[in-house]
Amino acid sequence: MKNEKGSLVRPDALPDSASRPVVTPLSPSVVYASDTPDMLDRQYEGGLQGYTYAREGHPNADVVAKRMDRLEAAPHSGVVTASGMAAVSAVLLGLTKAGDHVIGGNQLYGRSLRMMSDDLPRLGIATSMIDPGDIEAIRAALRPETRMVLIEVVSNPTLRVADLKGLATLCKEKDVLLVVDNTFTTPRAIRPFDWGADIVIHSITKLLAGHSDVMLGYVAARDAALNNQLRVFTVTAGMNPSPFDCWLAERGMLSFDLRFDRTQATAARLADHLSTLKGVKRVIYPGRDDHPDGARATELLHGQFCNMVSFELDGDREAANAFTRAADGLNFAPTLGDIGTTLSHPASSSHRALTAEKRAELGMSEGFFRVSVGLEDADALCQIFTDAVAAATGN
Ligand SMILES: *Cc1c(COP(=O)(O)O)cnc(C)c1O
Repeated sequence: MKNEKGSLVRPDALPDSASRPVVTPLSPSVVYASDTPDMLDRQYEGGLQGYTYAREGHPNADVVAKRMDRLEAAPHSGVVTASGMAAVSAVLLGLTKAGDHVIGGNQLYGRSLRMMSDDLPRLGIATSMIDPGDIEAIRAALRPETRMVLIEVVSNPTLRVADLKGLATLCKEKDVLLVVDNTFTTPRAIRPFDWGADIVIHSITKLLAGHSDVMLGYVAARDAALNNQLRVFTVTAGMNPSPFDCWLAERGMLSFDLRFDRTQATAARLADHLSTLKGVKRVIYPGRDDHPDGARATELLHGQFCNMVSFELDGDREAANAFTRAADGLNFAPTLGDIGTTLSHPASSSHRALTAEKRAELGMSEGFFRVSVGLEDADALCQIFTDAVAAATGN
């Protein structure tokens, strides 16, 4: 009964067990107690492995980071962040300074584009948005002060494929960092470090965690000093993830490869099915023969064409409204990578800030939809699209 008062305000230690839990324990502790100042000193200096304060790191984040490192074959252990955008921000804000210039793909994730267009210029960092499939345009946009080129391998939502090989050669030649956001393609389709990327970014929120109940990101750099700079910046800026979110994400990631393979196979089926429907004007899927970057997709993605399909209804906004109403059982929601199929309509969501002319230039009409294919039965899913396209277009 010694120390009874203390025990009221301090949790008790877990009971001993000769057997181990098969699920990773959740460690929500914000602080970690050390035995002595000497030990704490050695922990801060790196001589002793141990946690101190959860913003600086915690076991559940490290478990997710290690899994991501393995998936991406990362040269150094990367950092898990509170969201994919935190990872994007860590790179764009943590590795640049006033006077630098940053080139971004012209069809990046909406918020990444927004940071390029609104936030970096405010801080004195110039930006250019260029088609990452056009290597000569990128070359022409390079300046002596260009610090990095940020791209996604497959663009959103028109699913064009970047010239990753050409970009890697160009960036190396010009000593510019090549940053690849690998969220859409995932390490199952491509590992950007293998193709010469300097930094890889993920939104784990999407396919990797896969259940739309966690927001999480990841970033890793090839160069040890840059990798460390990213880690320090994310700690200072408070981009750390919650232990519970890491715990949930790990659980989701255990089934990632199965979900990827299944949704990809269904996506290929759905793309071919959509192309047979009269009310559909155009289908975009990197694995189809009619894809404008088909050869590049085949080389970079080695047969893994992923779970995203885009298509264009033969109709206007009214047809688009009728389509989502009729697509019973599918969520019309601005996300991707969920276990269920989701529909996104760029003209009313991700690309609403663009003028209709600008959208048309990028190939997005009011009838344009992006589909993130989920785990539904493929036949049942194709039938839902057949019915909804017929309801929307009369075909
Ligand atoms: C969703 C997404 C992000 C942002 O990730 P969040 O986890 O939503 O912050 C970044 N890049 C791409 C390609 C995405 O799809």
